[in-house]
Amino acid sequence: MNFKRITRSELNYLVNLTSRYSRLLTQMPIILFLSITKIFFCLDPTLPKIIDRPISFDEQRVELTLEYLASHYGLVQNRPTISPQMVVVHWTVIPTMEATFNTFNPSTLPNARADIQSAGALNVSSQFLVDIDGTIYRLMPETTMARHVIGLNHCAIGIENVGPGADGKLTSAQLEANVILINYLQKKYPIKFVIGHYEYQDFVGHPLWLEKDEGYRTEKVDPGIEFMEALRKQID
Ligand SMILES: [Zn+2]
Repeated sequence: MNFKRITRSELNYLVNLTSRYSRLLTQMPIILFLSITKIFFCLDPTLPKIIDRPISFDEQRVELTLEYLASHYGLVQNRPTISPQMVVVHWTVIPTMEATFNTFNPSTLPNARADIQSAGALNVSSQFLVDIDGTIYRLMPETTMARHVIGLNHCAIGIENVGPGADGKLTSAQLEANVILINYLQKKYPIKFVIGHYEYQDFVGHPLWLEKDEGYRTEKVDPGIEFMEALRKQID
């Protein structure tokens, strides 16, 4: 048998290998700790828990949205996308989440909306819907245009809140959810304005205001001055 004497470089290699594995073993608790931290980070309470509940966005809705962008804003696009710079907060007046979903789900406006029917058949909707208990639903992609505010849909993400309740108010759970959701949106997009729907006409004449039809206006009170004041105190 021919035993070869172990060379210095082979010895170094073995020592390195042993020390590498022993280092890995000693690092195991650190790796475990970091993994657990990462899991907890994903459960960060400052990040919104969002449930995707997409409304129908079929070919007809895409076509109607492209038509709306072109006729109301002069924006001729291939896809019905927006560049978010604003968040508009609403209340639904519809008393439940399910009924609101069913209202937004069809691509075309129901005949009951004679007030805005002449401005196009595209149905109303919003990117987000917050239920009475604060549950956040995402009804459509954040950067797809929803019809929820005159003049500003091309740059505004809409948050609808189910309500108001019998007391004429939204709930504290909804306030908390709106704060977390808006903080998340502000980190993700260059949001310059957070407004209540009742404030939208303040933007007539602003560079972001693109509505071409001067007769197309509706009076709004949602989501109430009190709610917006409380929201502005708490958002980043
Ligand atoms: Zn509204």
